[in-house]
Amino acid sequence: MPWMSKKTVEDAVEIAAQLEEQLRFYRDIGVSDFGGARHNTKAALGADSGVCASPALATALDEVIAGESADNDDHPTNHPATQTTTARTKQAALFGDLALASEMSNSRSTGSSLPVLETRDASLEAIREDIGDCRRCKLHEHRKTIVFGEGNPAAKLFFIGEGPGAEEDATGRPFVGRAGQLLDKIIAAIGLRREDVYIANVVKCRPPGNRTPERDEVDTCEQFVYRQIAFVRPKVIVALGSPAFQCLMRTRESISRARGSWRDLNGVKVMPTFHPAFLLRSPDKKREVWDDMKKVRDYLNESGES
Ligand code: URA
Repeated sequence: MPWMSKKTVEDAVEIAAQLEEQLRFYRDIGVSDFGGARHNTKAALGADSGVCASPALATALDEVIAGESADNDDHPTNHPATQTTTARTKQAALFGDLALASEMSNSRSTGSSLPVLETRDASLEAIREDIGDCRRCKLHEHRKTIVFGEGNPAAKLFFIGEGPGAEEDATGRPFVGRAGQLLDKIIAAIGLRREDVYIANVVKCRPPGNRTPERDEVDTCEQFVYRQIAFVRPKVIVALGSPAFQCLMRTRESISRARGSWRDLNGVKVMPTFHPAFLLRSPDKKREVWDDMKKVRDYLNESGES
């Protein structure tokens, strides 16, 4: 293209590459209807110019993102159908911006005392054995299975959710319901497999009716996920949703504010992002999650860790 400067062409190619990558992510996480440009990203991007046919593509993306199914019952948080007003108020008071300082422990309200990640366990099995047939909190009353967590014990990337849903409770495995299937696609979109990473929850037993875990339940159970993190010693933790992020970072900051910005948990980088169950209900937020996951992928690549 003789009328374009080399720099303009390079910029255009870079933009096209980024858009192609974004499209690949949408497909990888199960979004596939690209209208006329279906299955032909090159065509959508303008194959020979390397420049995106942008208005059409932007519209296609918006349509595609809006088309994702909205309902899902495998995760509690923010699901209006599963929460009574009282439960919602409790949840806000537990983790949210509405919490009264007087109701919070000093460490959780000030963020002053992050958990120290000291390995004192010889194996993950030892942590599981310590949990035993746990009856330390009331969640044991309704659970079928303790969902300990699973994955690569030497994983560089650790995902943390809030607590098991119905399918996890039935199978004993974390993130296997619809939100879990979306998580698998998110993991694949950054070039990893589920077995490369480690996946666990703040609480190991399903809260009844998929409600958000309560303060006493989190206080009782969080020690185990800290021990799992300390043992695995990942480079990056992705905190999925508010409860996981707020527990991990001892903060009341909302996930909407925090997402996308790196945090430090005593030497381990933490990326807060939206929970996949939230994405099932609000597919327009996938763009943000993709931005967050690219930061994670790039950090792991740059530090030679993926
Ligand atoms: N949601 C979570 O937070 N964890 C699971 O394991 C499943 C759904």
